[in-house]
Amino acid sequence: MSIKSLRLFFGLPLPHRQAAAIDVWRNGLTLGGRPVDKRNLHLTLVFLGSQPVERLDELQRLAGQIRGKGFELKLDRLEVGRHGLVSLGSSQPPEALIRLAGELHDSLRAAGYTLEERAFWPHLTLARQCRTHPVLDGRPDFAWTAERFVLFHSTSDEQGGVYCPLFHWPLPVPD
Ligand code: ATP
Ligand code: MG
Repeated sequence: MSIKSLRLFFGLPLPHRQAAAIDVWRNGLTLGGRPVDKRNLHLTLVFLGSQPVERLDELQRLAGQIRGKGFELKLDRLEVGRHGLVSLGSSQPPEALIRLAGELHDSLRAAGYTLEERAFWPHLTLARQCRTHPVLDGRPDFAWTAERFVLFHSTSDEQGGVYCPLFHWPLPVPD
C-alpha cells in the first residue's frame, strides 16, 4: 500500500537534556491523564493536518523562505486548559517566536493551506485529560535556545504515537 497523505505540523523540537529534565519534573507532578511521551515533547508552530505527500516539496520551499532568528525560550508557567490539557507556557514569549509562527502561518495560507485561525498559543503539552489540578512546589524554570524549526510527521510506531522530524531549518542566533 502506498502512502498518499501525511499528518504534518511545524514545530520546535526540544534538546534531549531539556526534554529529560521536563519529563522528570512532569512525572513528579502526578498529573494522571495521558502524559505526552518524553520523546514527543515539542512546541507546535503551525498544525497542517493531513496533507498529500506531493505537497512536501512545496512545504520545504515555503519553509526555506522563512528568515527566522534563534531565540531563548523560557518556560516558566504551568497552564491548565480545556479537556484537562496541562502545558508549560511562557510568561513572556519571545518576539522571534511569535514572528516565526506568524510568518509560517501567513506563507502557508497564501499558498492555499487551510489552517487554524485561532491566535497562536505557544505551549508545550505535558499531559491531556488530567482530572486534577496540579499542585506546584515553586515555579517551573526551563529554558533553551531554539536554533531550528522542524516539519514533523505525526505518526505511530510500536511504542505508540511518534512525531518524526522530516526536515529542519536553522534559526541563526544573533551575536
Ligand atoms: P492524538 O491526537 O493521537 O492525541 P497528538 O495530539 O499528540 O496525538 P496530533 O493530533 O497529530 O498528535 O498533533 C500534533 C501536534 O499538533 C500536537 O502538538 C497537537 O497539539 C497539535 N494539533 C493537533 N491538532 C491541532 C489543531 N487542530 N490546531 C492546532 N494544533 C493542533
Ligand atoms: Mg491531537
